[in-house]
Amino acid sequence: MKPDIAVFDFTCCEGCELQILNCEEELPSLVEAINIVSFREAMTERSDHYDIAFIDGACSRESEIAMLKEIRERAKMVIPIGACACLGGVNCLKNYYSMDEVLKAEYGESAHYYDTIPARPISAVIPIDFFIPGCPIVKEEFIRVVQEILVGKVPYQPNDPVCAECKMAGNVCVFDIGMTCLGPVTRGGCKATCVTGGAICWGCRGLIGEPNINAEKEILEKAGLSIEDIVKQFNLFNAGQESMWQ
Ligand code: SF4
Ligand code: SF4
Ligand code: SF4
Repeated sequence: MKPDIAVFDFTCCEGCELQILNCEEELPSLVEAINIVSFREAMTERSDHYDIAFIDGACSRESEIAMLKEIRERAKMVIPIGACACLGGVNCLKNYYSMDEVLKAEYGESAHYYDTIPARPISAVIPIDFFIPGCPIVKEEFIRVVQEILVGKVPYQPNDPVCAECKMAGNVCVFDIGMTCLGPVTRGGCKATCVTGGAICWGCRGLIGEPNINAEKEILEKAGLSIEDIVKQFNLFNAGQESMWQ
């Protein structure tokens, strides 16, 4: 029987949902194997009956807590997709300010119409069954995870650092050219796309299972970063885990 799939969006740019829609070649065969019953970014129909819920975005409003609990009650599997949902992501940067300050900065005089709470990953609100990291998610990884679930497998979760794929891509390490990078402690699976594209790894896929934080801190310090700089670099996507750096 085809499983019913729902895709939900919470606080985010919805870019990870867009990545699902970007699976243009795979979507026709995918919809033969699954029923997509709710997906606000893609369709008007919706249903409260679904087997697997993919969740894009962080939780950053009181009302979202109740919505997430309802999704958890209805779905057999809940899978956060993307850095916002898996880590809290860039949304967590607001947690360093008071919620009043945040509302005023965003909505000015209209701030009193809105509510907000410190941003948090989905796993901080409800139990999750798996997660697909990245900002945005890698579309091939999304397809693979769905295929593995469909055949009854526990999906594979990459746990090697970005450095491993970076080396396989033949990149010159950015530390050798005076830059810094979070690749040594960041979960791979993105083929080190940012470094290959001429940038650095900012850690959007979150930490690997047992990150050697002290070694990473040491190489960042050797590269000239202060503790404050290190925390800032790490916080872009991983603000919720800042304490590991202090
Ligand atoms: S993880 Fe990145 S691309 Fe995905 S919703 Fe959040 S900000 Fe957008
Ligand atoms: S550039 Fe970054 S990801 Fe690549 S090898 Fe160096 S530290 Fe690792
Ligand atoms: S290289 Fe780093 S920042 Fe870029 S996609 Fe991979 S994990 Fe994310």
